[in-house]
Amino acid sequence: MQEITNLNPEDQTVDLALRPKTWDEYVGQDKVKSNLRLIIDAAKQRSEACDHLLFYGQAGLGKTTLAYLIGKEMGVNIRPTTGPTLERAGDVAALLSNLEPYEILFIDEAHRLNKLVEEILYPAMETRRLHLIVGKGPSARTFSIDLPPFTIVAATTKVNLLSGPLRSRFGATFRLDYYQHSDIEKIIKRSASMLNVSISSEAVATLAKAARFTPRVANRLLKRTRDYAQVNNLKQIDETTINQTLELLDVDTLGLENADRQLLTTIIKKFNGGPVGLKALAAALNDEVGTIEDVYEPFLMKLGFIHRTPTGRIATALAYEHLNLPNRATLV
Ligand code: ADP
Repeated sequence: MQEITNLNPEDQTVDLALRPKTWDEYVGQDKVKSNLRLIIDAAKQRSEACDHLLFYGQAGLGKTTLAYLIGKEMGVNIRPTTGPTLERAGDVAALLSNLEPYEILFIDEAHRLNKLVEEILYPAMETRRLHLIVGKGPSARTFSIDLPPFTIVAATTKVNLLSGPLRSRFGATFRLDYYQHSDIEKIIKRSASMLNVSISSEAVATLAKAARFTPRVANRLLKRTRDYAQVNNLKQIDETTINQTLELLDVDTLGLENADRQLLTTIIKKFNGGPVGLKALAAALNDEVGTIEDVYEPFLMKLGFIHRTPTGRIATALAYEHLNLPNRATLV
């Protein structure tokens, strides 16, 4: 079963087309937006490069979109790269020394930067100088290069994996949270009109409920529903179209996928509702501890379906109810 959170190349194209190009199109995250606009306006008034910025939060919440909006607002070019592609110190040195003044280097998956690369980045971010060592042993020489003013915008889903020194080099750090239901509805309506899709307001609400509070998932589900409507010759997407599409995708009304349901039923059936330690849960699910912690749990906690306690994970009464399973704790 294909996970809703993953993207195939076709979806990436749609994702790009639907990406907000102005602050007004960027729905929600109002605090982050107003703070960012302040930083940008101040930098523009001083004719300086924007401060280095760090965004963190779950995948699909709009970190990359913000980076591009900042570039647009500053009127500068943005050069995208990712943590794992910057393997050697030379890779980052080459990128930085080729930046035009005021350009933005956008580093996605910043938690995957290795130590060598980070060590080149710290001084470059702080003093705008590159310190390089050429050669090895006694003949090694160090030299430094002045860099033009530039901005690093980094994005990560795992801010705790970023080293302390790197984190402290950012002028501001922003956490992107899950979206409100009403914001997801707005995003769906905007995307539907861009994709020329006619959708009833009840259908928008049903779709938003299954979108995991995440814009990328909302757009993705909308696109699948559009496919379904097209193949079945339906002129308008209504609630039935949404429900039938969700059923085909094995996504339930609250956006839970197979893996989410399996996690909950394992806690309930194999571990008596918990508490169960993360490692034991991972072993029972044959999955990685990291995936459970970073991918499934945040959403299930947001729904209030599991609690993290010092002794382990617990399935809540809401989870039993949603899965239609008898809850022994409440049985008399
Ligand atoms: P991230 O970098 O956090 O994984 P993206 O910035 O790539 O997320 O966002 C994924 C998609 O979700 C974008 O292409 C865009 O269509 C949509 N999106 C994200 N944030 C918003 C928003 N605030 N308003 C409208 N659409 C959004």
